Amino acid sequence: MALAAYACDPARSRGRRHPEPPAPTRSDFQRDRDRIVHSTAFRRLVYKTQVFLNHEGDLFRTRLTHSLEVAQLARSIARPLGLNEDLVEAIALAHDLGHTPFGHAGQDALHECMREQGGFEHNLQSLRVVDELEQRYPAFDGLNLTFEAREGILKHCSRRNAQALERHEPGGVGRRFVDGTQPALEAQLANLADEIAYNAHDIDDGVRSGLIALDQVREVELFDAHCREALRDWPSLQGRRLLYEAIRRMLSEQVYDVIDATRGAIEEARPADADAVRGARPLVRFSDAATQRSAALKSFLLRNLYRHPQVLANTAQAREVVRELFAAYMNDPLAMPGDFATRGDTARAVADYIAGMTDRFALREHERLTGRRLLTA
Ligand code: MG
Repeated sequence: MALAAYACDPARSRGRRHPEPPAPTRSDFQRDRDRIVHSTAFRRLVYKTQVFLNHEGDLFRTRLTHSLEVAQLARSIARPLGLNEDLVEAIALAHDLGHTPFGHAGQDALHECMREQGGFEHNLQSLRVVDELEQRYPAFDGLNLTFEAREGILKHCSRRNAQALERHEPGGVGRRFVDGTQPALEAQLANLADEIAYNAHDIDDGVRSGLIALDQVREVELFDAHCREALRDWPSLQGRRLLYEAIRRMLSEQVYDVIDATRGAIEEARPADADAVRGARPLVRFSDAATQRSAALKSFLLRNLYRHPQVLANTAQAREVVRELFAAYMNDPLAMPGDFATRGDTARAVADYIAGMTDRFALREHERLTGRRLLTA
């Protein structure tokens, strides 16, 4: 499939912060993707919580498998729309690099700890990872990704942090949060694919964990419609296979819905190129009906899974681990490895160090520093 005029074209990239000669056979966006796959932060995603903690079971999604599913969905949608698959894949694989251990509980606790130092935002942290914290290249810190990949990785950003980025890099990736414009379509797509992915896999993980029952998910119209269709075609289908078949059909419907609705929005707005996309309204979208159906599923998961007493019990302990780690390192920065121990900005160094930890490393460090064992199987 040829690249559409409104897609990001690597030949017209806004470039890298540190100019580099082009690679002989790979485009700049392919290189971005390859750098992300080889990064340390990417490998750590395998031991970071999506919803369920690592020790709770081997088959639940982790940040890594979640990111792979986001990349798969985003590429499936990108190709028929003529968008840049390499770029959308790079953004999808990197979008969660800045996540703390223990999922949102970890991030909330770290944000709390950093309140007086500007807080902690995981999207901004993903950008810090690829801009500064990875140390692999002799000539620069970070991975030196293209503007377009960095733009997509910074999915959300508070106005205050955007202004700080803007001071550092005028007209850079912080600008759109100051002037209210949009990112390129590949970034918009990675963002929506994230939502499609977690809504679907959290049903699967939720049922697998036993915290929600398959019949309970049938309260959700989007899921129930596909369950009924699957049972019409396969009347004796039940249990896990029914669950998978309903999720598979639901994912297909959403993917095709986004392709159609986005195509329609693009035809209406007629953006001449990627820059025109940035000045238009958001173009990657569900149809209105699918937006509502997706919102109903999201609210079901919030009520029944993310706020399930068993999940919340873990959340409380996870916050405690992060808070106590933060206090311990603030009290004794030399308990961190050299690079972090000797940085002048102690609180931010502590936040960077904790954010980079896997769940199990955080628990081991917490035990080493406090003598207490929390959240272990
Ligand atoms: Mg995600």
